[in-house]
Amino acid sequence: MSSVQERTQELLKLAAESRAGLKRAADALDRLPEPEQAEARAALMALAGVQPGEEAEEGEEGEGTTLTNKRLLRWALGREAEAQRPGNPTHRDESFVCARCGAQVAPGGARVRDHCPACLHGQHVDGPVPGDRAARCGGLLKPTGLERRGEELVLTHTCALCGVVRRVRAHPDDDPAALRALSASSGWRAIR
Ligand SMILES: [Zn+2]
Ligand SMILES: [Zn+2]
Repeated sequence: MSSVQERTQELLKLAAESRAGLKRAADALDRLPEPEQAEARAALMALAGVQPGEEAEEGEEGEGTTLTNKRLLRWALGREAEAQRPGNPTHRDESFVCARCGAQVAPGGARVRDHCPACLHGQHVDGPVPGDRAARCGGLLKPTGLERRGEELVLTHTCALCGVVRRVRAHPDDDPAALRALSASSGWRAIR
């Protein structure tokens, strides 16, 4: 094991202890000189399942576009916990059976399949990055809004368990009738 990997594992262990530990680990990472810091960040991004350059995509609302060392550590921890959970039924963009309507959903291909194309519901398994599977909630994500962003339709999901609100892009094979119904009920009139 290289020294950077050892260092990264030490930081993750510290971060997993407590909130204070997470802060201490983030501070230690902030203080790490280059190129060690960049190498440690790259190792953490690999653990968190984040592609370089993808850090800011569809981030949490109101948060900045740069991935701080603290958040990076949190993501890596979430991903590790998820990977260690036995029998975890969902993986990045794999087929699944919808928890709400029972539809057999095929992988999304180019886009991570993060909701059911038949009923538009999802499951709260992702953290800030689509497909990262970093959340531990598991609640049903209910479609609560629809808006148009340029050429794309964007669904609002609200978790029935923890209340998190998240926006996800509609998929080309999402059921048009379900999208129309959501558009009408949300009052945003994204589709006529
Ligand atoms: Zn469904
Ligand atoms: Zn939730």
